[in-house]
Amino acid sequence: MKAAEILAEISQQVSVCEKCALHYSRKHAVPGEGPADSTVMFIGEGPGFYENEQGRPFVGAAGNFLDELLAACRMPREKVFITNVVKCRPPGNRDPLPEELTSCSDYLDRQIEAINPKIIVTLGRFSMAHFMPLAKIGEVHGQASWVRGRLIVPMYHPAAALHQPSLKPVLERDFTRLPGYVEQARHAQPEIKPESEEPPAAPQDDEPTQLSLF
Ligand code: SF4
Repeated sequence: MKAAEILAEISQQVSVCEKCALHYSRKHAVPGEGPADSTVMFIGEGPGFYENEQGRPFVGAAGNFLDELLAACRMPREKVFITNVVKCRPPGNRDPLPEELTSCSDYLDRQIEAINPKIIVTLGRFSMAHFMPLAKIGEVHGQASWVRGRLIVPMYHPAAALHQPSLKPVLERDFTRLPGYVEQARHAQPEIKPESEEPPAAPQDDEPTQLSLF
């Protein structure tokens, strides 16, 4: 099956998924969007108010800021794949619970496997923890590292920068590094190892909660 067909199948499964309690309160599930052959994949935390209304990722204020960040590094939004670690909105925009992260992680892992991106940019603590469970965002943001054969770049969540203005120039600076990381990944051919069987871990708590800002 082609990558686009696999992604379409995952989206269909997500739209009717009842694997965790988040399905009770969702209006629309948000599987993610973007080309099946994307070089770069962005992974946020979970849908907010507007994402839940529209069924699309990053369409609120944080989404507008993400669009600005992408434009600044000449990376058109329509050329990248954007999704979240949980595909349904946590009520009141609270943090996703461990059992919700675990229930939803298979969809994310299958999306990554289908797209096979050269770079994964994590936006916020929860998506970073999917790949780097022991890392602290304040120490590793903007720094690329190889994890299970992929170049992972942890970033602050755009909503965090809207809530805490001092993070905005930090995020803008981190994004300027992305084109260089794309080149680095293009010239490297690390072995792609199978995804870990370990369940997703809770992130280290050194970043302000972001989802309440959507
Ligand atoms: S958050 Fe994920 S696991 Fe939970 S109902 Fe939605 S799609 Fe299913």
